[in-house]
Amino acid sequence: ATPRVIVVGGGYGGATAAKYVRLLSERRISVVLVEPNADFVSCPLSNLVVGGSRQLSDITSGYDGLVRQGVTLMRDTVRSIDPQLRTVTLGSGASLGYEKLVLSPGVDLLFDEIEGLRAAHASGRVLQAWKAGPETVALRKQLEAMPDGGVYAITIPEQPYRCPPGPYERACQVAWYFKAAKPRSKVLVLDANPDVVSKGALFRRVWAEQYGGMVEYRPQHKALAVDERAGVVRFEVQEDVKADVLNVLPPMRAGAIAVQAGLNNMAGKRWCGVDYLGFESSVAKGIHVVGDAIQVAPAMPKSGHMANAHAKVAAAAIVAELSGWPVNPAPMLTNTCYSFVDDQRVIHVASVHEYVAAERTYKAVGASGGVSAGPNELEGRYAMSWARNIWSDTLT
Ligand code: FAD
Repeated sequence: ATPRVIVVGGGYGGATAAKYVRLLSERRISVVLVEPNADFVSCPLSNLVVGGSRQLSDITSGYDGLVRQGVTLMRDTVRSIDPQLRTVTLGSGASLGYEKLVLSPGVDLLFDEIEGLRAAHASGRVLQAWKAGPETVALRKQLEAMPDGGVYAITIPEQPYRCPPGPYERACQVAWYFKAAKPRSKVLVLDANPDVVSKGALFRRVWAEQYGGMVEYRPQHKALAVDERAGVVRFEVQEDVKADVLNVLPPMRAGAIAVQAGLNNMAGKRWCGVDYLGFESSVAKGIHVVGDAIQVAPAMPKSGHMANAHAKVAAAAIVAELSGWPVNPAPMLTNTCYSFVDDQRVIHVASVHEYVAAERTYKAVGASGGVSAGPNELEGRYAMSWARNIWSDTLT
């Protein structure tokens, strides 16, 4: 019989895994991808929708390319996984068996870790927009409705969280919009971390040189509570902050289905431990976890680029195992994260991650990566090419 691989989640990790199991097995292995959303909406570039230089349609793609690869798409949600029986149960109630499962459910936002946030988010007053889609557009609308002279504040949780440079890029995008449309307004970056987590010197330079006093960065601001009526955030140590548009990012952990399946065995039950050689769960045989949901190796960011790379290694390991081939003993992964500081100019951070067999982990290859000298338009073009390439690689 044809072996079956089930992939849970059609984001950066899952869609890539689905495609590459088909490709590497030369279509001998059947792949079922379960994803509740009709379309793929990219978080990378979604800050440009917040800034107003792009529309949601620019970052949205269909799944028809995967269907052309012979992937069976099920628009549904996986409700539970039985690792012993190797079955999943869908929202529709149907049950499906698998030889191998790939789980790439992304992150869950822990609203309850900040008092009042769940209700404030449910009412639509305090948004996260950290899963691209309708909320990205809703945040844009809040910024458009804000009067000139108003304050936008973003709070950042302690790391690790999805996309280390993402919140700082968003601050730049909001400042870019304010500078043109609402020049008396202010952007407050309220960071639970002691310093800017990624590309710190570059972001600080952009805020100082390009946006003058408009962006204010405050470290050591761990959000504890939100008062949606007053528009106030309270912090563990620092003074309360009032803002017209509050964008509160709570702490994150592996997507709910990974937690439900008991795979979140690392870092205080936040993330899923894996054997990095093939991304198989360290808890359940036959389940490979990729993307943001895993406990990342040192210096590895939670990024779409990394999720795509994890997925290829997992797909290769799965196809090798199901085909009786040897598994690649030395995977090598790359990462680049571009950040738009306005509508054209970009800064990047890049790294190469090598599997070190003796330590069973990935290590950043010395002197392999780096950051931009400064924001520039050429990298803006590279960033758009990066997006088109990774969407094509992931989805077609
Ligand atoms: P996702 O892409 O979120 O996919 C998870 C999928 O699983 C979703 O489609 C979800 O619907 C589905 N799912 C969840 N639970 C279930 C279930 N039970 N059953 C079925 N399906 C389920 N990364 C970069 O590399 N470059 C960037 O420039 C960049 N910019 C970013 C900017 C922002 C503002 C943000 C928020 C993120 C950015 N990232 C960037 C990070 C990137 O988006 C994530 O790292 C990436 O999406 C992780 O892929 P994933 O597959 O783990 O999760």
